[in-house]
Amino acid sequence: MLILGRQGAGKGTQATRLAALCAVPHISTGDMLRAAVRDGTPLGQRAKQIMDAGDLVPDDVMIGIVDDRLHEPDAGRGWILDGFPRTVGQAQALADITARQPLDVVVELVVPNEVVIERISSRRTCDGCATVYSADDEAIADGVCPKCGGTPRQRDDDRPEAIRKRLEVYESDTAPLVDHYRGLGLLETVDGLGSTDEVFARVLAVVDARTSAGRPEGVGSAGPAVSSP
Ligand code: AMP
Repeated sequence: MLILGRQGAGKGTQATRLAALCAVPHISTGDMLRAAVRDGTPLGQRAKQIMDAGDLVPDDVMIGIVDDRLHEPDAGRGWILDGFPRTVGQAQALADITARQPLDVVVELVVPNEVVIERISSRRTCDGCATVYSADDEAIADGVCPKCGGTPRQRDDDRPEAIRKRLEVYESDTAPLVDHYRGLGLLETVDGLGSTDEVFARVLAVVDARTSAGRPEGVGSAGPAVSSP
């Protein structure tokens, strides 16, 4: 499945939880690029400036990365893609890549612009494990990530100038994908406002309805009803 939505809509948070529940990989192209930047690979060196400016890394580069990743063994039973596709060209390439393992569902998380700007401004991302926190989260009051001991920091592209640019790019390049996937009958729109648990329950309901179609009654589901994180 794919998860679409503006920066700060909660895609990463929801995709991480859903992937754990369904035992499939959460594939975030943003996380992959940030890891490449951290490791100083040629890709990372090329991508850093583009990312810091809030622009998109060229389609041919991204398509190559995703094609490779989706052919790794752990992706054989399915995957949750977050941050890809970002353009109609990427969506067309994804359709070719996944011709033998087509999409079940595309979830669009909808959160108004004012809310995402507020969320992104206070977002802190661990430089070790990429866990996302809010700046006022007690768990990181000492400046240390409780999961891995890394340091939660503001991403360079979460600063105001880059945020504005990224939201503009979302509207011009990525928002058309909503109609694209609606036209293919794959789109499920989910309200992204509310607590993480509330949003997860909504996501799970639509994913379960889609993925259980055709499954014999009583056989499996995306998981139990949602309670705690
Ligand atoms: P994200 O964490 O998904 O917001 O991605 C952070 C940045 O990585 C984006 O602003 C882009 O510069 C770059 N990026 C991530 N995914 C893609 C993609 N599919 N196509 C082009 N650029 C991407």
